Amino acid sequence: MGTTHSVARAITPCIFVDRVPTEVRAQIFSYVLAREEPIYFRYTLPKNAEGQRKRKWVIDNDGSLLPGPDLDNTTALLRTCKTFRAEASEVLFSTNSFVFPSTTAVTKFLEEIGAPKHAIKALIIERYVLSTAEQFWHSLVPLVNLRTITLPHYELCQTRARPVKLHAVQQYMEPLLEVLHAARTAREKDVDLRSLIRLKVSKIPCWWCRNDHRLKDFRDPHYDQCTTACGTQAAAAEHAKLVGRIEGLIAATMKETQEKSR
Ligand SMILES: [Zn+2]
Ligand SMILES: [Zn+2]
Repeated sequence: MGTTHSVARAITPCIFVDRVPTEVRAQIFSYVLAREEPIYFRYTLPKNAEGQRKRKWVIDNDGSLLPGPDLDNTTALLRTCKTFRAEASEVLFSTNSFVFPSTTAVTKFLEEIGAPKHAIKALIIERYVLSTAEQFWHSLVPLVNLRTITLPHYELCQTRARPVKLHAVQQYMEPLLEVLHAARTAREKDVDLRSLIRLKVSKIPCWWCRNDHRLKDFRDPHYDQCTTACGTQAAAAEHAKLVGRIEGLIAATMKETQEKSR
């Protein structure tokens, strides 16, 4: 490299940023950052030199909580420079789905990452934390591109002894639904938000749903098959009912907001 180049060259000494169009860079980033599998985010609380603990987000697809080659590739790209960071995060967030251990973790993550969060499309969450539910739904409001939030069935199961109150969920969700509706209308995209929330059934169907049906008398010849046969069926029926209720609540909220805006 010569020393006679212009000042501009000295400020942004990168051909990739200077001469390659943004769309082409996005394409290149997507080769590195787009995954088939969802990306697992976890946080650790390592001590720094002063002995204070600071939250550190790690990609943890192998469950080891150790920085692996995956993490190194992704974060190395994000750390390269400001332009890279902004553009690569946009690609990272818009082309992948992200798994978080809890709704509380999602809220913390969104607080920390700032602007690029708007690109997030799909969240998969393992625990619904009641005590922070309102903050959780509120923290999703800037995610104007959000398409799906997957929650485990058993967390919202209505056959539990003390089920999550769905009308409270509906209330907390309202600002997000309004924002998503407006964003999708503006882009002339499908505005049916009923499938925003997805419920995932674990490999073994929900205990509460199955147990509701379980035959109590072990002398009955049907007893042995009951749990697997009827229990699974009962769980599937309960699951469909829950999905229907949540879709219904979203539809009702949307109808209300549309009437308000008229
Ligand atoms: Zn259930
Ligand atoms: Zn049975």
